[in-house]
Amino acid sequence: MKTIFILLDSWREDEIDKMDFVKSLKSKSRYGQVESLLGYGGHLETIFSGKEIEEHGFWFNIMKSENSKLKWLSKFNVKSKLVKKFFSYLNISKMLLRREDYLLRLYNFNFKDLKYLDFSKKRLTCLEDNLFRELEKEKKRFWYFNYPFSYDGKKKINWVKYSDKKVMELLKKNLERNYDFYFVHLLGLDKVGHSYGVGEERVKKLKEIDLLIKNIFKEDYNLIIVGDHGMYDVKETIDVKIDDGLMFLDSTVARFWFLKSKEKVKKKLEKLGMKVLEKEDYEKYKVRMKDDRYGELIGICRKGSMIFPNSYNDDISKGMHGYLDENPGFLIYNSEGEDKIKFKDFYLVLKEFLLNRKISN
Ligand SMILES: [Zn+2]
Repeated sequence: MKTIFILLDSWREDEIDKMDFVKSLKSKSRYGQVESLLGYGGHLETIFSGKEIEEHGFWFNIMKSENSKLKWLSKFNVKSKLVKKFFSYLNISKMLLRREDYLLRLYNFNFKDLKYLDFSKKRLTCLEDNLFRELEKEKKRFWYFNYPFSYDGKKKINWVKYSDKKVMELLKKNLERNYDFYFVHLLGLDKVGHSYGVGEERVKKLKEIDLLIKNIFKEDYNLIIVGDHGMYDVKETIDVKIDDGLMFLDSTVARFWFLKSKEKVKKKLEKLGMKVLEKEDYEKYKVRMKDDRYGELIGICRKGSMIFPNSYNDDISKGMHGYLDENPGFLIYNSEGEDKIKFKDFYLVLKEFLLNRKISN
């Protein structure tokens, strides 16, 4: 039996009902809310390893590093966006040639900070020590797509142009082949959410994806659809101007290193309406890291606000995510159980589907 895992980027639980086909699967499915991870990264790593962020160690895309691979860019400390774009694409080409995973645009970064900042991840998740290695051991075959690469267990293929339709067509083609496990990450819904917010355009996109899913579906597939985070309309922006240490601004998270007066910065962030992570938050969200590579001090926006300017966005987005407690949606066809699940539990679900390992607890 084939198992298909669709990571539907930014899919909210309440959006299941806007998709006629997916909705029709509800009566034979387990569905509801996934307990969200804090921040932007770590979803795939958690799903495929069954470990919390603090155990597998991958959290934000950018981290502090003593020997950053991006160091060479810090020499070109220019203001011009055009010049920065040139270097940013040069870096992406370099990474593509080396078949590296993370292809982030860097031109909104402060290049001088790249002396200390680096990508936290360098390889495809399916190449790391996780479920995929267990599949290989049991001679199970997989097909994996996570932008911009597809991987069939042997060969990695570059994908430069992306559309949900293209990826789903590629999935359909590969479903005719003899794989046991299929993973695709669909990005379109997230993109529409950022550009238009959670209104009409988003509903249109949900309907489109609904049809794409219907088009590949067969009754005897194990189908899992999971959102990685939510999406909320942006109602205000926050200008984080703090001149102390090293600062990195994700879209809704401000992170700091080498601070001289931590308390002062903390007060400033709170004054801006941000929540500064405390010891009990690190515990609650299971992000007690071994070191401070993701930040000595971390402040998070409240829902509906966005940091701008920040290190990623060219313009103010209409929709944003990266808040506390977003609890995205999930649906597991051919399964029953509670309407709440944790990201790390998908590992057990997949093991049961693919390796017939019964979930015992
Ligand atoms: Zn997004």
